[in-house]
Amino acid sequence: MQADLLDWESLWLPMSTSENPLQLLFQTFEKVSNSIQTHLSQFLRFPNNPHAKPLFAISTAPKPNRLAPRPAVSALLHPAEVPKKEISAGPVTKEELGRATWVFLHTLAAQYPEKPTRQQKKDVKELMAILSRMYPCKDCADHFKEVLRANPVQARSQAEFSQWLCHVHNVVNRSLGKPNFPCARVDARWGKLDCEQRNCDLQGSDKLW
Ligand code: FAD
Repeated sequence: MQADLLDWESLWLPMSTSENPLQLLFQTFEKVSNSIQTHLSQFLRFPNNPHAKPLFAISTAPKPNRLAPRPAVSALLHPAEVPKKEISAGPVTKEELGRATWVFLHTLAAQYPEKPTRQQKKDVKELMAILSRMYPCKDCADHFKEVLRANPVQARSQAEFSQWLCHVHNVVNRSLGKPNFPCARVDARWGKLDCEQRNCDLQGSDKLW
């Protein structure tokens, strides 16, 4: 403890012969004790903020349950700092729906068998037809119906189907003023699903139909 923490001057008690020396000793002891208490309590608080919590305190609050699921990082952020997408629990936008659908379709095309069965070829044609009727954006569905009419599905092989899909995606891109995607790079952009030992690959046929 620093020397100036104690008010040494105030401890100086002029002793007169008429005073009881024992009483003086008790008074001195009381002053020292008060001084130590005051300085200790100041030491345990931030010096410039009387409202600050003590540096050392025994908390009586219940301890957090370490086994409870951790909150998402976003739950710890100020709402202004949370990415908009994460807090938006509202309806999906046309763009988000489009992106998600293209991810699905291009991944399907990447997984499509080299030698599809007759059923698989029928299925992808039906899938596209259903998409043009049921796609949950009426304008987009109507437009896609026209795109399909002008560009019938070609799916006799994996390469043919992924190139056809790239082409129709570009037709949609153009109608929206978006740049053309180079279809020579479609396999580089859309690989097969990351799935252990290729367990997710669609099984095709041995025969070439
Ligand atoms: P997206 O076009 O969604 O593409 C996603 C990613 O695919 C891109 O980032 C790029 O890496 C890659 N990509 C882009 N082009 C190709 C390609 N040709 N081949 C392979 N990969 C490519 N929106 C409308 O406003 N009006 C419509 O009429 C409409 N019709 C749609 C019809 C269908 C069937 C679908 C699935 C979506 C439609 N959309 C429509 C949505 C629109 O196509 C986009 O998905 C949306 O605008 C978001 O665009 P984006 O720029 O994020 O990239």
